[in-house]
Amino acid sequence: MSRPPAAAPVFTRVIADIDLESEGRSVGALRVPHSHNESAWGTVAIPIVVVRNGDGPTLLLTAGTHGDEYEGQIAMCDLARTLRPQEVRGRVIMIPALHMPACLAGTRLSPIDGRDINRSFPGDVGGTFAQVLAHYLTHVLLPQVDVNIDVHSGGRSLDCLPSTMSHILDDLDVMRRTVALARAFGAPFHVMNREVDGSRTFQATAEGMGIISMSSELGGANRVQLAGVEIARRGLRNAMIHLGMMDGALVPGAVPTRPMVIPTSRDYGFSPAAGIYCPSVLLGARVSAGDRLGAIYRIEDPVSEPVALHASRDGMVWCQRGQGRIAAGDSAAVVVSDWVDGR
Ligand code: CA
Repeated sequence: MSRPPAAAPVFTRVIADIDLESEGRSVGALRVPHSHNESAWGTVAIPIVVVRNGDGPTLLLTAGTHGDEYEGQIAMCDLARTLRPQEVRGRVIMIPALHMPACLAGTRLSPIDGRDINRSFPGDVGGTFAQVLAHYLTHVLLPQVDVNIDVHSGGRSLDCLPSTMSHILDDLDVMRRTVALARAFGAPFHVMNREVDGSRTFQATAEGMGIISMSSELGGANRVQLAGVEIARRGLRNAMIHLGMMDGALVPGAVPTRPMVIPTSRDYGFSPAAGIYCPSVLLGARVSAGDRLGAIYRIEDPVSEPVALHASRDGMVWCQRGQGRIAAGDSAAVVVSDWVDGR
């Protein structure tokens, strides 16, 4: 009997200290090399928990892709601590603090190489810490995965109404399947978008490989928002039920998930000036094109009129600046509109 040739093993510099194929619960680390003056053979350990029970889909769950986004890190630690093999069909791979150096620092970017890992995909095995880790995800983990959920929040700079997220794709069937997953997850909104600089993200990489891929924005504003934590705790288990990986009934949210869109990467409400951003409306406000969303106060010139930011289209204010100071070009306020299936 001839066997098909095995795929050449992918060269990675990341050391997995558990076998990701093992049955049952496996708790270990992905070790990313970090050689520095104090440590020749140093590594940064990124905890990974795998729960496997027989055949079935593989679900990859990640949080802490940005270190200042806390809700997902909390909810996924709860899941990683409690999920038992007998609850699951298939395999759940959980990485609650993916970009560990940034998570430990409580920052979006890594203090090791200054990179945003979510702008470092598909990665580079010869690159910096974030690029080496991104390369491992792209070339080792994602090829084993059927569905991935990367749990984000607004972090320090944004305050978002709790939502799941995905990109606007050419493949309408994939978008519908993602919306179905989002409805099961059960956040109040699912926002589909053409992201600013989205091509270098983890999610775009997974989408490009044909993987059903969902992200989220579950709060932010540089703190832990309980509503977002609770949505993630419920949503991660709901996702497994929806995927046929877990028995039980979906636990719905307070309201059905409403699919929304940010139609283009021009629609991110970029600030026209530097200063202090003062919103004119609350999150969730309905606005029409031309309505004032907020104003930038220039304290260097206290008698000048604040610089107004206006809505470019009709919709609902979904996201605002999460901290007071803003630079010209930062996203100040994002308006979303209802998604009409098929366009
Ligand atoms: Ca994020």
